[in-house]
Amino acid sequence: MPQLSDRITTLNKGGSDGWEVFYRARQMVAEGKDVIELTIGEHDIGTDAAILVAMHTAALNGATGYAMVPGIAPLREALAERVAARTGVPTTADNIIVTAGGQPGLLATHLATGDPGDAALYVDPYYATYPGTMRAASRPPVAVETSAEAAFLPDAAKIDRLAVESGAKSVLINTPNNPTGTVYPGDTLDAIARVTQDRDLWLISDEVYDTQIWEGDHRSPRALPGMADRTMVIGSMSKSHAMTGSRVGWICAPEAAVDALIDLATVTTYGVPGYIQQAALFALQEGDLLETGIATPFRRRRDLALAALKGQTAVGVIPSQGAMYLMLDVRSTGLSGRDFAEALLDAHHIAVMPGESFGTSAAGHIRIALTTEDDRLVSAIETLVAFAGTFAHAA
Ligand code: PMP
Repeated sequence: MPQLSDRITTLNKGGSDGWEVFYRARQMVAEGKDVIELTIGEHDIGTDAAILVAMHTAALNGATGYAMVPGIAPLREALAERVAARTGVPTTADNIIVTAGGQPGLLATHLATGDPGDAALYVDPYYATYPGTMRAASRPPVAVETSAEAAFLPDAAKIDRLAVESGAKSVLINTPNNPTGTVYPGDTLDAIARVTQDRDLWLISDEVYDTQIWEGDHRSPRALPGMADRTMVIGSMSKSHAMTGSRVGWICAPEAAVDALIDLATVTTYGVPGYIQQAALFALQEGDLLETGIATPFRRRRDLALAALKGQTAVGVIPSQGAMYLMLDVRSTGLSGRDFAEALLDAHHIAVMPGESFGTSAAGHIRIALTTEDDRLVSAIETLVAFAGTFAHAA
């Protein structure tokens, strides 16, 4: 076989092997073992039946041919209205391209905001695909490290320094954040916005968890003065509407950027299936009640988890402000996040994600996905705390 490209064979270079815990847990489940899986960020419910009926009806009514590459007009309009209503920024259908979920949006925006060799900044800890996405666009990924002590918020001065050193063309942020649950406050966003203006960077803002806010407010940086012209927002129906498998999301960007992204979509996806788009439109038209109903179990479980963690000292708690995750600091056990996760899986059949799978800044932490029913989640947390306590005493 002729040689494969460096681009594709080095996609995951430097990626953590922390996903081994996840795969081992899945293997144990396949062997019939009772494992409490608190690993991946997927709802424990399927897509609402009414949305599936809309999808079915749309398909039967003929929406099975090629759909418009930028997205069907009513969906682009509904998304523009949604963005305008939530952010106050004037937004039209021309600012929106429908994508096959947030992930292709991340790739498209990185292809659009820099040429091969142009560095791309991202904040560590990060959603696992980020560096690989940048490499797929031939953009050297450059991590902006944060720390638990600084609530995992990025320091704008560090972004500025790294941007200058690397010659970066874009910076990617994610609020509410996966894996930390941090919601960026206004002053953090203001400072980041200022750097993008000073250094003429694109801001790529991954807002796929914008309906999952437990504390504070979600602010889209696109709404800050002067930022609508240099911001590309990644949106998705995956988390807000429990439509992970339907693969439908969007990019909101300046009109001229959307025109270029449409050219890119023409040579990549050639659009998103029409029946999926019609189902997404139906889901949006269902309004807030549906979205709130989907977010509510995570809010409840986050509260239950925090209550179960109160008063103990075996693990530190990063009090999730949004998104379906909770980070715990297990450094007092003397173990890495990965060793802790491996040991917990062996001893108690509880699977969590090691912090190391999200970069270096979350080392010594673990991430819990709040995607298991309440009682099981609370009992898993109690077991986890008691388990961590045995190491603290041994130390
Ligand atoms: N961004 C973040 C932060 C995520 O956690 C995810 C999914 N876990 C995505 C983007 C991509 O999701 P999707 O492609 O399903 O929209």
